[in-house]
Amino acid sequence: MLRMLKERLEAGASAEEEVSALFSKINKSRLNAYNVLSEEAALERAREYDRSPWGGLLAGVPIAIKSSISTKGIETNCSSRILTGYIPPYDATVIERLKEEGAIIIGKTNMDEFAMGTSTETSCFGPTKNPWDADRVPGGSSGGSAAAVAAGEAPCALGSDTGGSIRCPASFCGIVGLKPTYGLVSRYGLVSYANSLEQIGPLTLSVEDAALVLDVIAGHDPRDSTSARSEGGYFARIEGGVDGLTLGVPQEYFGEGVDPLVEKAVWDAISKLEGLGASWKKVSLPHTRYALAAYYIIAMSEASSNLARFDGLRYGLRLGADQDWHTTFSDIRAAGFGPEVKRRILLGTYALSAGYYGRYYLKALKVRTLIKQDFERALSAGGADLLVTPTMPFPAFRIGERIEDPLSLYMADVFTVPINLAGVPAISVPCGFADGLPIGLQIIGRHFDEAAVLRAAKAYE
Ligand code: GLN
Repeated sequence: MLRMLKERLEAGASAEEEVSALFSKINKSRLNAYNVLSEEAALERAREYDRSPWGGLLAGVPIAIKSSISTKGIETNCSSRILTGYIPPYDATVIERLKEEGAIIIGKTNMDEFAMGTSTETSCFGPTKNPWDADRVPGGSSGGSAAAVAAGEAPCALGSDTGGSIRCPASFCGIVGLKPTYGLVSRYGLVSYANSLEQIGPLTLSVEDAALVLDVIAGHDPRDSTSARSEGGYFARIEGGVDGLTLGVPQEYFGEGVDPLVEKAVWDAISKLEGLGASWKKVSLPHTRYALAAYYIIAMSEASSNLARFDGLRYGLRLGADQDWHTTFSDIRAAGFGPEVKRRILLGTYALSAGYYGRYYLKALKVRTLIKQDFERALSAGGADLLVTPTMPFPAFRIGERIEDPLSLYMADVFTVPINLAGVPAISVPCGFADGLPIGLQIIGRHFDEAAVLRAAKAYE
């Protein structure tokens, strides 16, 4: 899709017309996919392109950015009251790279507040709606990015994935979403929720587009100490097919709690891949059932520490500071954070407190190692080359259906969080429908083997 857009632009189509067509769609939309638009700046940039087109992998291509990724001069509020009005003075590394390759930023997308959620309902701007059924959630936390791409309000978008936040909304909105290997994409300029788990990645209409965006954003960055070198060339290597590959089907990802229509769609996808020359075998990831508990302890612990910086003095929301420091600090945080963020700060602080640290946080870290070893074993030489699973156990649920019951929301992440704990790459690609709602197939690879993940996803697509 992006290739076609680029070809159109290279053949002389007007970038300004492309961008203004997007904005007329966005401005009429009821999806609430964006919380900040950069209409004037994007149109101006498109006019500049039309006057003297530049080169680059994404030359003239419009892109939407999740509201947790810092953009110089464009409000970056993480869908939180506490950051409303905050305009970063610098670009995240991924934004610098997009700009170097010629992309045009059109706006910031709605998300769960500070990326804490699975439905985009915890945003202080209200929920984003699923383009397939406006009564349903788009998934989360990058729900605005996914809805925008699925509805044609952006040709591609960036999201971030701490425990499924790219793959879940990709699955619920019927598009492609890639969570790269931990360390492949710089997190510099991403507002941290749980920094040992999260990665920035693309949400796109095709696997080829995801590879192209990954080529732009992946690579070493000295400003992120966890950043690794990238082999690059993902787009160029996408055509290899799956002939001769062995797919592992983890038994723990099927059965109780999984919608039978989702299971059927995933098995149909496995048959299709078999028809394309792959073989498959059952594998086991025995610690899967501890993943949710370990994930939420680690994520909340990191969140409680990362969010300490929002004191109302350095960023965003300000209240009159005429009282003592503790009262001012507490008042601002009480007014600025929503209930889910507060819940997580409290639980995370508890898990890290003296006396409980060993019982919860340290234990969770040990479980994390066991989960990582599960993946390494299943994906070792002689084992499977890739794993295939459902992305989500069910299709998009109704807005309001789960938000009052946090545990039922957390449980929806059962097949996405283990991947972040292990740090491996995974993609969600559409694999059918259940009652008119899209279903996602998750393809998981070895550390830094995005090439194989993308190749298999492309062969399936
Ligand atoms: N739903 C998960 C959570 O709430 C994952 C969110 C994410 O990946 N940012 O933590």
